[in-house]
Amino acid sequence: MTDKVLVVTGGSRGIGAACVIRAAKAGYGRIALNYTSDATAAEATAAAARAHGAEVAVIKGDMAVPADIAHLFDETDARLGPVTHLVNNAGITGRASAFADADPAEIARVIDLNVTGALLVAQAAVRRMSTARGGKGGAIVNISSMAATLGSAGEYVWYAASKGAIDSFTIGLGRELAREGVRVNGVAPGLIATDIHDTSGVTGRLDRLVPTTPMGRAGTADEVADAVLYLLSDAASYTTGAILKVSGGR
Ligand code: NAP
Repeated sequence: MTDKVLVVTGGSRGIGAACVIRAAKAGYGRIALNYTSDATAAEATAAAARAHGAEVAVIKGDMAVPADIAHLFDETDARLGPVTHLVNNAGITGRASAFADADPAEIARVIDLNVTGALLVAQAAVRRMSTARGGKGGAIVNISSMAATLGSAGEYVWYAASKGAIDSFTIGLGRELAREGVRVNGVAPGLIATDIHDTSGVTGRLDRLVPTTPMGRAGTADEVADAVLYLLSDAASYTTGAILKVSGGR
């Protein structure tokens, strides 16, 4: 497909930022980079992608808020054209704790973004991509987590549950759209060196868990982005509903 338009939610930092930059390097010419609070990081990532020749639209919006989701895709239509490729990446864990001690409002925030928000982001994309609705087809990669199968006991089981929902969604939507020109896959990262671990409030989480990974190291955001780009690409043309672990064997 020519004229690719890539949307990356949570594209300012971490895995999303790596996807934006790797995609620009791979020749994606038009990229919508969504972020919610860190404008400086968003602009730095956009500049890195522009250095590879991509046109980048930086679009602020909270992917837990339906009006912001609609705005992201309307702005993308207006500035770059309708989305053809989506990295459904924005996600949070909430502050780590035993489940019984967790704040219900925090659990709701995680589900609002990681589940409801991710579904509505995908819906906005599908309405534009599906050949049954006049679109040109496309590809979606949902960012899951190894937490979906490992469970995150004692840290954030609600987050693990939210990613389990994303896995089911990926399988079902992949089947539903298989004859509408849209492939839907997931990537389940393991322990990846990004800011998310500090945000969860557990100091030294990465260092503590690295020895438990079969490869004995954390992964990089670039290593996840490479898997995402493969699933987005035509090299994965017969792959839909798949969830690819990128976890160093975890
Ligand atoms: P990160 O470094 O904390 O970056 C999160 C990104 O999401 C930032 O760009 C942030 O934007 C954005 N974001 C946060 N809340 C948002 C919202 N409400 N609306 C729109 N954007 C929002 O996280 P990460 O580690 O790259 O994680 C990315 C995805 O990978 C998440 O879905 C996460 O669950 C998943 N994952 C990560 C790991 C890991 O070990 N790192 C493992 C498995 C799965 P601002 O810069 O504006 O805050």
